[in-house]
Order: sequence, then structure tokens, then C-alpha cells
Amino acid sequence: MTGAGFVTDELCFWHDPGNYALMLKPGGFIEPYNRHIENPDPKRRLLNLLGVSGLRDRMLAIPSRDATEAELLRLHTPAHLAHVQAVAAGGGGELGIGAPISANGWQTARRSAGCALAAVDAVMSGQVARAYALTRPPGHHAEPERSMGFCVFANAALAAEHAIAQYGLRRVAIVDWDVHYGNGSYKCFESRADVLAISIHQQAGYLFVSGEADEVGEGAGRGFSLNLPLPPGCGDGAYREAFERVVLPALDAFRPELIIVPCGYDAGRFDPLGRMLLDGVTFRWMTRAVMDMAERHAQGRLVFTHEGGYCPVSGPFFGLAVLEELAQSQTEVVCPFTAQHAKIPGQALADHQRDLVGALANHFNELRQRHW
Ligand SMILES: [Zn+2]
Repeated sequence: MTGAGFVTDELCFWHDPGNYALMLKPGGFIEPYNRHIENPDPKRRLLNLLGVSGLRDRMLAIPSRDATEAELLRLHTPAHLAHVQAVAAGGGGELGIGAPISANGWQTARRSAGCALAAVDAVMSGQVARAYALTRPPGHHAEPERSMGFCVFANAALAAEHAIAQYGLRRVAIVDWDVHYGNGSYKCFESRADVLAISIHQQAGYLFVSGEADEVGEGAGRGFSLNLPLPPGCGDGAYREAFERVVLPALDAFRPELIIVPCGYDAGRFDPLGRMLLDGVTFRWMTRAVMDMAERHAQGRLVFTHEGGYCPVSGPFFGLAVLEELAQSQTEVVCPFTAQHAKIPGQALADHQRDLVGALANHFNELRQRHW
């Protein structure tokens, strides 16, 4: 079982959150803006780059599908599904907190979640070792009972649950490196020990949820949620330190049978919704690091769900770096940002970052000793 698969669907690019100005509904002194910040461009331009570079042809094309209602109901409430259906049937509108849809929203959200499940199917059936789902709407902020933060259904969490319910896995790890807290995965699995939910994010980068390190799960799930809130301004050094001291040791100890990465590119240094400094170099390194863990513990099984990332110019190059690594295939594309990487201040690990990650490592070691 080698190689990588790729799943996407044109309908995902037709997902339409309207013309909100950033996340604000136009009105009063807020002039209507031409596009929502979560518009198709960043992901479509990645898809185009994959095509032009030839990389897409080197990956297995996984057919897309819809998530069934039964699959959505594994983690979401019937009331939540009914709400999404009703808002879409009414022509669209705001679903919750910053998650507007248009009339096709029920359709696009089920397709987006279904692509994540199809990626799991391809990996679990042994067609490929690794699979990437390029979809909209994203999912990692969606909670069992509500949509928020551009997300309708919890794509990555549903993928984890699919692997458990359909294929009988006993341990699945989620490594969420979108710059915003993966609160949806936390809420879905906070009481369970069979899913290790790790989120590495910008502290207080998404104001509607917290994501602090003391949110560690409840009951049987206590100790199986690891939140790494990092200060703004983290670059390559801080992310590597967080991986080497917390994320990778946790994965090694948990021994997941599948790793799922809700992958955002909004920790990239040009992103309008994040204040981190990453380049393709670091996204590639993190991808390699989780691949190594998947090969050590999970027969190589690794599924990526595309989450945020709002710079339509740099994001596709960072995505290409991830996908080149997953496909184990280099293209002739030269990332126009990589050459600048070494000159960008803040890439080296700073003292305050080392101290913070050290404290997080101690905190999680204690948790593991007490609860695992
Ligand atoms: Zn994000």
C-alpha cells in the first residue's frame, strides 16, 4: 500500500457564503464586499496548480460522494441537520456563528463531508496509503449541534468516526494545524479515549472558542485532547519545537491506527486571518513528520482534510508542498516564496516560544501519566 489519493468535487467550489465583508453582514456603515473571505479562490487555485504542475495526475483520483444522513448523525444532532436543510431550503442565510450558506448549502456541505469519508474509504481499503480531500465548506469548527466559522459539518471528525464505526479502528489521532482552534473535533470527542485530538493554533485566534491548554477532555476522554495555543508570530522554529516536544511524542505514545490532519494554510505568513509566519518549508516538514508517525504506527494510513487558508496566491504553493510530500513526487514548480524564507525574521525559535512549548510539554506529560 503506497502512494497518495486525491478527492475533490466541483460542487465544493460552488459553495457560496455570500458577500459578507470579512465576517460582517453588510448593512449600516459596513459596505457590501464583493466576496466572502472564505471564497473558492484559494482552493481552486491550488487545484489548478496541481493540474498545471502535473502532480494531480500522479495521485489516484478518488471518486467523490455525499455523506449520508446516517453518517452525519454519527456526530451531529438531528436538529442540526434539520436546521441546515431548512436554511438552505429557505434560500440560504446564516447557520450559526459566521457560517452563512446559500440555497445549495445542504448539498455542498454533504458533498464536502462525503469527500473526507471517501478519503478514509480509499485509505482503509488499501487503495492508497495517504489521501487528501480538497473541499469546501471546511469543517473543523463545526460542533455536533452547530455550525460556525465557515464550517457546516465536522468533516475531519466525521472522517475519524467513519474509520471507527465502519472499519473498527480503536485509536485515531487528529493533528489539526489550521491556525485556528479545532473546536469541532474537541466537542465531538471530548469524552472519548479512542480519538486523540491535537490542535496547534494561534492563541485566541478565533474569538468564539478558547482552545486553551487546560481544556483536556472530560470523563473517559480526559487527557486525550491536547491544545497547543501558540502566541502570534510563530515561525518554523516554534512549530518544529511544538511538534518535536509535544505532538510527535503524543502520537508515539498513543499509537494511532490512522492519523487525520485537518490541514489549513492560514498559519502561512501572508494569510489575512492568521498572524503566524509559516512557509511551504514548514508545511512540508510537518507533513513528513506525520507521515513518519503514520508509517511507524498506522501502516502509513494518513488522511488530510483541507480546512482554512485565505491567501489565494501563497496558499496554493504551500498546498503543493504538502501534496508533493504526500505523493512522494517532486514537480518542477519552484515556490516563489521559499527563496525568501531564510530572510524572514522570526523563523528561528525564540526564548519565549521555547519556554511556552516546554511548559506545554510538561503539562501534557503529566496528563498522559495520569490518564493514559
Ligand atoms: Zn483557520
